[in-house]
Amino acid sequence: MRAMLMQHWGEKLQYIELPIPHPHENEILIKVHVCGICRTDLHIVEGDLTQPKLPLIPGHQIVGEIVQLGKNVSGFHVGQRIGVPWLGGSCAHCSYCLSTRENLCESPRFTGYQIDGGFAEYCVADSRFCFPLPAMYPDAQAAPLLCAGLIGYRALRKTNHAKHIGIYGFGAAAHILTQVAKFQGREIYAFTRPGDSAAQIFAKQLGVKWVGSSEHPPPFLLDAAIIFAPDGKLVPIALQAVAKGGIVVCGGIHMSDIPSFPYDILWGERTLCSIANLTRYDGEEFLALAPKIPIKTEVHTYPLIKVNEALDDLRHGRFTGAAVIEISGNDCQQT
Ligand SMILES: [Zn+2]
Ligand SMILES: [Zn+2]
Repeated sequence: MRAMLMQHWGEKLQYIELPIPHPHENEILIKVHVCGICRTDLHIVEGDLTQPKLPLIPGHQIVGEIVQLGKNVSGFHVGQRIGVPWLGGSCAHCSYCLSTRENLCESPRFTGYQIDGGFAEYCVADSRFCFPLPAMYPDAQAAPLLCAGLIGYRALRKTNHAKHIGIYGFGAAAHILTQVAKFQGREIYAFTRPGDSAAQIFAKQLGVKWVGSSEHPPPFLLDAAIIFAPDGKLVPIALQAVAKGGIVVCGGIHMSDIPSFPYDILWGERTLCSIANLTRYDGEEFLALAPKIPIKTEVHTYPLIKVNEALDDLRHGRFTGAAVIEISGNDCQQT
């Protein structure tokens, strides 16, 4: 099979041909149709995340069709369309797994990090962590739901009943959760990089209440803020943008160091927290909600051979919405 492989830690992906993997007893073999690009892939390839298996095929927003079932797999059939998210396995017996917090599992396995992912023609995945996908979405439009959507949704849920929500970094996750927030009767205040007029126009088209540069404060103090940009400097800025009792949620897996800040901007029962990974429950809840809204994803597709280019475009903010790698070229086929 054709694949894009990271041979050494922090290196660009190399095109390679590899044997098609074999599914173990709980696994399914998937012919990959498309695989979404996530900022986490960028952190893996740039070496910010330090525990990848090597060599590694990254990619964790996989949409494909089942071509073979492991002997213990039930509830799935060959030919079925399936989605594979970031959480590829959990231990099922640590204190977190036993308290419905498998996203915090002590020995998790992540797709495209400890398990080979979807930047390849085929992959295997533990069927117990895969999701059937809503039929209304073509493959490419479904892919960003699997991480940008899921993690964005988890971040949004963390804001509880906040009505006025700031988002720092208006990329794939933000464009999805803006639609969820509107559906729930909330208002989004979008902060972009200074001068990023493409992101500001995009945010306006999606119906945010306000757009501005992250260098400037919002028109009034917000109830909550979510930070997707991997820039620690935004943490004190976001804390200053939320009212007493407000919450700032860091939605990324990696961030540059947070500069020190006066206690005053945390005082007043403001909360600062992160969200980490996903649970299968998040996936089931969000994938059921997405077609009801219905969430529409804006995607920019690249062929498999151009994964490095797609990652570079993400690094420099050269597209709005989400990037998706097309692998088998039949991105509109559904089962
Ligand atoms: Zn566990
Ligand atoms: Zn991701």
